[in-house]
Amino acid sequence: MKSIDYDEVEKKLKPYRESSLEYLKRAIFDEPDIPFDLSLQNDRFCSDSRCTGCGACEAICPLKAISMARDPEGFSVPEVDESKCVHCGKCHTVCQVFVKKESSEDIHCFAVKNSDQIRRVSSSGGVFRALAEKTFSENGIVCAAGMDESYHVYHMFAADMEELQPMCGTYYVQSDLKDSFFKIREYLNAGKKVLLSERHVRLRV
Ligand code: SF4
Ligand code: SF4
Repeated sequence: MKSIDYDEVEKKLKPYRESSLEYLKRAIFDEPDIPFDLSLQNDRFCSDSRCTGCGACEAICPLKAISMARDPEGFSVPEVDESKCVHCGKCHTVCQVFVKKESSEDIHCFAVKNSDQIRRVSSSGGVFRALAEKTFSENGIVCAAGMDESYHVYHMFAADMEELQPMCGTYYVQSDLKDSFFKIREYLNAGKKVLLSERHVRLRV
Protein backbone atom coordinates (compact mmCIF):
# COMPACT_ATOMS: atom_id res chain seq x y z
CA MET A 1 0.00 0.00 0.00
CA LYS A 2 1.26 3.46 -0.85
CA SER A 3 2.24 5.44 2.23
CA ILE A 4 0.78 8.89 2.83
CA ASP A 5 3.15 11.79 2.40
CA TYR A 6 2.04 13.91 5.36
CA ASP A 7 4.43 16.72 4.47
CA GLU A 8 2.66 17.03 1.13
CA VAL A 9 -0.76 16.91 2.84
CA GLU A 10 0.35 19.62 5.23
CA LYS A 11 1.57 21.75 2.33
CA LYS A 12 -1.80 21.47 0.57
CA LEU A 13 -3.82 22.21 3.70
CA LYS A 14 -1.77 25.21 4.77
CA PRO A 15 -3.31 27.83 2.44
CA TYR A 16 -6.84 26.65 3.33
CA ARG A 17 -6.08 26.90 7.04
CA GLU A 18 -4.67 30.38 6.57
CA SER A 19 -7.63 31.59 4.55
CA SER A 20 -10.10 30.10 7.09
CA LEU A 21 -8.29 31.84 9.91
CA GLU A 22 -8.30 35.12 8.00
CA TYR A 23 -12.03 34.76 7.34
CA LEU A 24 -12.78 34.07 11.01
CA LYS A 25 -10.70 37.01 12.19
CA ARG A 26 -12.48 39.38 9.83
CA ALA A 27 -15.86 38.04 10.89
CA ILE A 28 -15.08 38.35 14.61
CA PHE A 29 -13.61 41.85 14.42
CA ASP A 30 -16.08 42.97 11.73
CA GLU A 31 -13.41 44.54 9.58
CA PRO A 32 -14.48 46.06 6.28
CA ASP A 33 -12.96 44.89 3.03
CA ILE A 34 -10.45 46.96 1.09
CA PRO A 35 -11.68 50.49 0.20
CA PHE A 36 -13.54 50.88 -3.03
CA ASP A 37 -11.76 52.62 -5.85
CA LEU A 38 -13.97 53.69 -8.74
CA SER A 39 -10.96 53.83 -11.03
CA LEU A 40 -10.59 50.07 -10.67
CA GLN A 41 -13.19 48.76 -13.04
CA ASN A 42 -13.35 45.26 -11.65
CA ASP A 43 -13.35 46.26 -8.03
CA ARG A 44 -17.03 46.97 -7.54
CA PHE A 45 -17.71 43.97 -5.39
CA CYS A 46 -16.26 42.50 -2.28
CA SER A 47 -14.02 39.48 -2.64
CA ASP A 48 -15.81 36.23 -3.42
CA SER A 49 -15.03 34.73 -0.05
CA ARG A 50 -16.82 37.59 1.74
CA CYS A 51 -19.83 38.00 -0.53
CA THR A 52 -22.94 36.66 1.19
CA GLY A 53 -25.03 36.77 -1.98
CA CYS A 54 -27.44 39.21 -0.33
CA GLY A 55 -28.32 40.83 -3.67
CA ALA A 56 -28.34 44.41 -2.32
CA CYS A 57 -26.00 45.50 -5.12
CA GLU A 58 -28.41 44.08 -7.69
CA ALA A 59 -31.35 45.86 -6.06
CA ILE A 60 -29.67 49.26 -5.94
CA CYS A 61 -28.16 49.35 -9.44
CA PRO A 62 -30.09 52.05 -11.34
CA LEU A 63 -29.21 50.55 -14.71
CA LYS A 64 -30.02 46.94 -13.86
CA ALA A 65 -26.47 46.02 -14.78
CA ILE A 66 -26.18 43.42 -12.01
CA SER A 67 -27.81 40.03 -11.88
CA MET A 68 -27.33 37.28 -9.34
CA ALA A 69 -25.97 34.00 -10.67
CA ARG A 70 -24.86 30.76 -9.01
CA ASP A 71 -21.21 29.88 -8.60
CA PRO A 72 -20.00 26.28 -9.15
CA GLU A 73 -20.78 25.48 -5.51
CA GLY A 74 -24.33 26.81 -5.80
CA PHE A 75 -23.92 30.12 -3.95
CA SER A 76 -25.41 33.38 -5.23
CA VAL A 77 -22.86 35.79 -6.67
CA PRO A 78 -23.30 39.09 -8.51
CA GLU A 79 -22.50 39.30 -12.20
CA VAL A 80 -22.20 42.62 -13.94
CA ASP A 81 -23.10 43.47 -17.51
CA GLU A 82 -20.21 45.72 -18.49
CA SER A 83 -22.14 47.16 -21.41
CA LYS A 84 -24.68 48.69 -18.97
CA CYS A 85 -22.43 49.71 -16.05
CA VAL A 86 -21.54 53.41 -15.79
CA HIS A 87 -19.33 53.00 -12.68
CA CYS A 88 -21.52 55.16 -10.48
CA GLY A 89 -20.43 53.15 -7.42
CA LYS A 90 -23.93 52.77 -5.92
CA CYS A 91 -23.56 49.01 -5.65
CA HIS A 92 -20.51 49.53 -3.51
CA THR A 93 -22.27 51.88 -1.11
CA VAL A 94 -24.79 49.20 -0.06
CA CYS A 95 -22.41 46.25 0.13
CA GLN A 96 -22.32 45.15 3.74
CA VAL A 97 -18.72 44.05 3.41
CA PHE A 98 -17.50 47.57 2.61
CA VAL A 99 -19.93 49.54 4.72
CA LYS A 100 -18.73 49.53 8.28
CA LYS A 101 -21.68 49.70 10.63
CA GLU A 102 -21.46 51.34 14.02
CA SER A 103 -21.89 48.74 16.71
CA SER A 104 -25.19 49.25 18.46
CA GLU A 105 -25.68 49.38 22.21
CA ASP A 106 -29.26 48.38 21.59
CA ILE A 107 -28.80 44.65 21.03
CA HIS A 108 -30.91 42.23 23.01
CA CYS A 109 -30.94 38.45 23.19
CA PHE A 110 -34.06 36.47 23.90
CA ALA A 111 -34.72 32.81 24.56
CA VAL A 112 -38.25 32.04 23.41
CA LYS A 113 -40.29 28.96 22.55
CA ASN A 114 -43.82 28.52 21.33
CA SER A 115 -46.37 26.03 22.67
CA ASP A 116 -45.75 22.25 22.40
CA GLN A 117 -48.41 22.01 19.72
CA ILE A 118 -46.77 24.65 17.51
CA ARG A 119 -43.27 23.29 18.07
CA ARG A 120 -44.37 19.89 16.76
CA VAL A 121 -44.92 21.44 13.33
CA SER A 122 -42.12 24.04 13.43
CA SER A 123 -38.40 24.32 13.83
CA SER A 124 -36.30 26.62 16.01
CA GLY A 125 -38.88 26.74 18.79
CA GLY A 126 -41.72 28.01 16.61
CA VAL A 127 -40.67 31.62 17.19
CA PHE A 128 -40.96 32.54 13.51
CA ARG A 129 -44.60 31.51 13.51
CA ALA A 130 -45.34 33.69 16.56
CA LEU A 131 -43.68 36.70 14.91
CA ALA A 132 -45.55 36.02 11.68
CA GLU A 133 -48.91 35.86 13.50
CA LYS A 134 -48.18 39.21 15.10
CA THR A 135 -47.24 40.69 11.70
CA PHE A 136 -50.44 39.40 10.07
CA SER A 137 -52.53 40.77 12.94
CA GLU A 138 -51.15 44.19 12.00
CA ASN A 139 -51.96 43.66 8.32
CA GLY A 140 -48.27 43.11 7.50
CA ILE A 141 -46.42 40.83 5.10
CA VAL A 142 -43.88 38.12 5.84
CA CYS A 143 -40.87 37.40 3.63
CA ALA A 144 -38.89 34.25 4.38
CA ALA A 145 -37.23 31.22 2.82
CA GLY A 146 -39.52 28.48 1.63
CA MET A 147 -39.31 25.47 -0.65
CA ASP A 148 -41.48 24.88 -3.71
CA GLU A 149 -42.47 21.54 -5.25
CA SER A 150 -39.26 21.49 -7.35
CA TYR A 151 -37.17 21.71 -4.13
CA HIS A 152 -36.12 25.24 -5.00
CA VAL A 153 -35.48 27.29 -1.85
CA TYR A 154 -36.16 30.98 -2.25
CA HIS A 155 -37.60 33.95 -0.37
CA MET A 156 -41.35 34.06 -0.81
CA PHE A 157 -44.07 36.30 0.59
CA ALA A 158 -47.06 35.48 2.76
CA ALA A 159 -50.06 37.57 3.76
CA ASP A 160 -51.73 34.93 5.96
CA MET A 161 -51.06 31.69 7.84
CA GLU A 162 -51.97 29.50 4.90
CA GLU A 163 -49.36 31.14 2.65
CA LEU A 164 -46.86 30.84 5.50
CA GLN A 165 -46.82 27.03 5.49
CA PRO A 166 -43.89 26.47 3.05
CA MET A 167 -41.77 28.85 5.12
CA CYS A 168 -42.14 27.08 8.45
CA GLY A 169 -39.28 24.60 8.02
CA THR A 170 -35.51 25.00 8.12
CA TYR A 171 -33.51 24.69 4.90
CA TYR A 172 -29.80 24.08 5.02
CA VAL A 173 -29.05 25.71 1.68
CA GLN A 174 -28.64 29.33 0.65
CA SER A 175 -32.04 30.75 -0.23
CA ASP A 176 -32.46 32.64 -3.48
CA LEU A 177 -33.50 36.18 -2.51
CA LYS A 178 -34.69 36.82 -6.08
CA ASP A 179 -36.42 40.21 -6.25
CA SER A 180 -37.29 40.30 -2.53
CA PHE A 181 -35.70 43.71 -1.95
CA PHE A 182 -37.75 45.27 -4.74
CA LYS A 183 -40.97 43.80 -3.40
CA ILE A 184 -40.17 44.74 0.18
CA ARG A 185 -39.54 48.31 -0.93
CA GLU A 186 -42.93 48.35 -2.67
CA TYR A 187 -44.71 47.08 0.46
CA LEU A 188 -42.94 49.58 2.70
CA ASN A 189 -43.74 52.41 0.31
CA ALA A 190 -47.38 51.31 0.46
CA GLY A 191 -47.26 51.68 4.26
CA LYS A 192 -47.19 47.94 5.05
CA LYS A 193 -45.09 46.37 7.78
CA VAL A 194 -42.74 43.67 6.51
CA LEU A 195 -41.20 40.89 8.58
CA LEU A 196 -38.05 39.65 6.83
CA SER A 197 -36.53 36.43 8.09
CA GLU A 198 -32.93 35.85 7.03
CA ARG A 199 -29.64 35.11 8.73
CA HIS A 200 -27.98 38.14 10.26
CA VAL A 201 -24.65 37.14 8.74
CA ARG A 202 -26.09 37.38 5.25
CA LEU A 203 -27.83 40.74 5.53
CA ARG A 204 -26.30 42.44 8.54
CA VAL A 205 -29.36 44.60 9.01
S1 SF4 B 1 -21.24 50.87 -10.59
FE1 SF4 B 1 -23.36 51.69 -10.79
S2 SF4 B 1 -24.03 51.07 -12.86
FE2 SF4 B 1 -22.21 49.84 -12.36
S3 SF4 B 1 -23.03 47.95 -11.51
FE3 SF4 B 1 -22.64 49.33 -9.78
S4 SF4 B 1 -24.59 50.41 -9.41
FE4 SF4 B 1 -24.70 49.45 -11.47
S1 SF4 C 1 -23.98 43.67 -1.89
FE1 SF4 C 1 -24.26 41.54 -1.22
S2 SF4 C 1 -24.30 40.33 -3.15
FE2 SF4 C 1 -23.44 42.35 -3.65
S3 SF4 C 1 -21.21 42.07 -3.52
FE3 SF4 C 1 -21.91 42.83 -1.50
S4 SF4 C 1 -22.31 40.98 -0.25
FE4 SF4 C 1 -22.16 40.34 -2.43
